[in-house]
Amino acid sequence: MTVHESSMQISQDMVVSIHYTLTNNAGETIDSSVGRGEPLAYLHGHGNIVPGLENALTGKAIGDKLDVAVKPEEGYGEHYAELVQQVPREAFEGVEHLETGMQFQADTGAGPRLFTITAIEGDQVTVDGNHPLAGEVLNFAVEITAVRTASEEELAHGHVHGPEGHDH
Ligand code: ZN
Repeated sequence: MTVHESSMQISQDMVVSIHYTLTNNAGETIDSSVGRGEPLAYLHGHGNIVPGLENALTGKAIGDKLDVAVKPEEGYGEHYAELVQQVPREAFEGVEHLETGMQFQADTGAGPRLFTITAIEGDQVTVDGNHPLAGEVLNFAVEITAVRTASEEELAHGHVHGPEGHDH
């Protein structure tokens, strides 16, 4: 029996290429591979994409289309109010111009975390350590465009190489 590449089902350690459009529950498009032209290639089973989407793709094959609603706990996590904090401007030593949208790493009790400045009012700067999509349901419309086995090197690195992946 010959198994053709086109019939390969997605499972652990396969390289999967997908076109996807991500919308929030308000119907706004947050991200899409379609406008970029190139599909996204990822290594299945290595946490390259959010768990809810990865789980939904297991067992699917080239040409399959699916709509997946990923809950926060299988996406970018819940939104934690305690990660939104006000800090004085002096806390940003050496930064000349503070703007909303700026990101920086700060040490927390649980290790380093990326914070985003979400508001500046006078001397008070509001920072948010949540992922920008925390607490959001992620609505993915996905089409699988390619499935192949990964190389030894890709498995060792935990990510995809080649035109749609890492170039190094
Ligand atoms: Zn690599």
